[in-house]
Amino acid sequence: MRWTDYYLYTTREVPKDAEVISHQLMIRAGMVKKLAAGIYTYTPFGWRSLTKLSAIVRRELDKVGAMELNMPAIQPAELWQESGRWQKYGKELLRLRDRHDREFCFGPTHEEVITDMVRRDVRSYKQLPINLYQIQVKFRDEVRPRFGLMRGREFLMKDAYSFHASDESLDTTYHLMHDAYCRIFEACQLDYTVVDADSGTIGGASSNEFMVLARTGEDALVRCAESGYAANVEKAEAGELPKPEPGPQGEGDGPQEVSTPGVTSVDEVATFLGVESRQVVKTLIYTSEREELVAVAIRGDREINEVKLANYLDVMHLTLANEEEVQRATGAPVGFAGPVGLSSDLRLIADHSVRDLVRFVCGANRADAHLIGVEWGRDTEPSEWVDLLLVGAGDPCPLSGAPLEQSRGIEVGHIFKLGDKYSEAMGCQFLDEKGRGNPMIMGCYGLGVGRTVAAAIEQGHDDDGIIWPRPLAPFEVLLMSLNPAKEEVRQMADQIYGELQERDIEVLYDDRKERPGVKFKDADLIGIPVRVVIGQKGLAEGKAEISLRRDREKLSVATGDVMTKVMELLAE
Ligand code: ATP
Ligand code: MG
Repeated sequence: MRWTDYYLYTTREVPKDAEVISHQLMIRAGMVKKLAAGIYTYTPFGWRSLTKLSAIVRRELDKVGAMELNMPAIQPAELWQESGRWQKYGKELLRLRDRHDREFCFGPTHEEVITDMVRRDVRSYKQLPINLYQIQVKFRDEVRPRFGLMRGREFLMKDAYSFHASDESLDTTYHLMHDAYCRIFEACQLDYTVVDADSGTIGGASSNEFMVLARTGEDALVRCAESGYAANVEKAEAGELPKPEPGPQGEGDGPQEVSTPGVTSVDEVATFLGVESRQVVKTLIYTSEREELVAVAIRGDREINEVKLANYLDVMHLTLANEEEVQRATGAPVGFAGPVGLSSDLRLIADHSVRDLVRFVCGANRADAHLIGVEWGRDTEPSEWVDLLLVGAGDPCPLSGAPLEQSRGIEVGHIFKLGDKYSEAMGCQFLDEKGRGNPMIMGCYGLGVGRTVAAAIEQGHDDDGIIWPRPLAPFEVLLMSLNPAKEEVRQMADQIYGELQERDIEVLYDDRKERPGVKFKDADLIGIPVRVVIGQKGLAEGKAEISLRRDREKLSVATGDVMTKVMELLAE
């Protein structure tokens, strides 16, 4: 492709909302153009990259027997009512009405549509398993669309769904898909890791996320080098935490109330009473869309994992109660809540971290007062013990006990064992060998196409621009003529261009009449892996210059050897 004929416009302007490097570079390299918040046009140059990734995805999924189909973006509300998600999905679901006033949504995911199709077509265990996928546009009305393609509202996703007659069959396909995903991200030359993950609103029993490691990643993950344990912190568990010393004894047999005027935060309480924050039980009051208040207790030095809590309560939107609600729940202002003497209709959920505390400190459910010397069993008991700990760096690995390491990642893929959540709700049944009807067992497998390309740029760039992993580069070779006004330069560049094309090498030919400085700057920015430069000086000695974007080390090569050298570099 000749640049002078091509639709490629680089820019120096970086919009203010482009916080991360991949977003900035995609805009500067002219790959995407913003139409509205979280909605982008992919230019011909940008689209090539997404197309290349899609081809890798297709190749690997076809290999494990998945079949490509294409489903509608617009989905009828009835299907979502059947699965129960019309209510549950909340504001991320873009809802529409047609001219007959019938309700629809723009699909954020396709479990309902695929389950509806399969329940109509498939009757017998003999027709199972089935694995179907598409690469298609999704819309999610994200609260905070940002980071360009990384968290768009409209975005391209590969989504696959499998249907089975047994858990074993699901396990087999899940493993095949897991391995296919590994091959996809390896083919893209990405540094990634697979972690245990939370299943979120999609539902189901177990899931794994594929994380591209990057400082700018929105997800935090923990890993143990010893056991290989790796989990998103949303899901991560820890081994037993070291026990704190028993706290101070109150006067008498029971807990003792002490005056703590205006002392509300755990740290203030600990300092005021001369104890450690881990000897304090922190009690927080939460509310959700169900408008029911719950009290949650955790060790004073630790935080609650709100994803675990929301899952446990089976709610979507969890928020800390406001002052008035806290007063109503505990009879005290914010900062003095505690597990002792709460009204019996308030649920008290306690994290395991407070289970072993001996003589702990907590709020007294009275203004300006705390209790010391409190004991579980004797003074109070939670209604339930649950793992709600937000696990972090240094916590013991649940498998080996060794300290966990924390890092950040970009979630590029997510695979789930759904079980019968959708098939049960939507009556997607098969007849087994004995002729009995059973709900099909399902798996689903997502991969963000745009997000993966963005993640590749997060991992591959320097101060001057993108450094593409070759498999995702929009073109393999950038051919530059430094002064095309000179006839011999233009002729030689044209000739090499022709030869590259003849060999089906994807070449972008910068034949523009721009200054060499501009061309080199653009070349660094758009990051094509192999660069061939034809200039007057070199040509006088019969030479061209070849370099890799990766290290920019220049090789002077006889013009007759350019093709061989390029082929050699591309084969690496
Ligand atoms: P996140 O937690 O980042 O919102 P998710 O768990 O909602 O992701 P899934 O429903 O599992 O995502 O979707 C499958 C894949 O689609 C994700 O792994 C990700 O690569 C991609 N994806 C999800 N949301 C977006 C988005 N807003 N923009 C771009 N890609 C997305
Ligand atoms: Mg999401």
